[in-house]
Amino acid sequence: MLVYIVGRAVLNLESAVMSHLRRRVAGVTPPNENRHMILDAFVVGRLQANCYAVGDEESREVLIVDPGDQGEALVEAFRTRDYRVTGVVVTHHHLDHSGGAHEVLQALPDARFYMHAADYPQIAASAPSGPAWYGREVAPPRAPDQLLEHGDVLRAGRHEFQVLHCPGHTPGHVCMEGEGVVFTGDVLFQGSIGRHDFPGSDGPALIRSIRDHLLTLPDETAVYSGHGPATTIGEERRHNPFLVNPRMTLGFDVD
Ligand SMILES: [Zn+2]
Ligand SMILES: [Zn+2]
Repeated sequence: MLVYIVGRAVLNLESAVMSHLRRRVAGVTPPNENRHMILDAFVVGRLQANCYAVGDEESREVLIVDPGDQGEALVEAFRTRDYRVTGVVVTHHHLDHSGGAHEVLQALPDARFYMHAADYPQIAASAPSGPAWYGREVAPPRAPDQLLEHGDVLRAGRHEFQVLHCPGHTPGHVCMEGEGVVFTGDVLFQGSIGRHDFPGSDGPALIRSIRDHLLTLPDETAVYSGHGPATTIGEERRHNPFLVNPRMTLGFDVD
């Protein structure tokens, strides 16, 4: 049974990489194409969350963003690709983004674990809902090696990424920006924004986070979200209905 599950997961991961590559061909070419950067996406779990690997093509050092599910299959995929995982970043506590972190960190003990202090304890708090929501038991990951704060810099070989604290979807949600790309978790999606009706969510704070920390990035910045296809900052600035007219779409605006 275990073999079957793992086998199926690996197949899912392979097709996820293919569909991600098709999406890139279809529209978004990150401006880092010539920077010898690894950029992989894996769609994992029942809620189809995007897990990303980003790093240095030469040294093979990568950071993993949001290993939400299928932890063992992800580790296998990293091994196949010869990645040296130096860090695991969890953007926020929701189990579709954090649910595979325990397995990945256990299999890769040299990888540092990064997360914001406001969200980390919530993984253990919501883990009992794993079977109902995600169809499996979720083991919370060990304590982070570094509690992320706004402005922190994370490195993968020659590449540097800056941590952006973007509360609103959850209090401790972080995005990660650098090398012409931004990983936005459940803050910003193609044509949409994160839900803000959960306990601990804050709609006006979410809009403020997006305006202050994401829409301030260059238009050509490639946006890699926690779910769904890639987009760009310019595309969302111009066409995302929740950002163009929050009063009409959300019923509130922010100063
Ligand atoms: Zn979420
Ligand atoms: Zn999510």
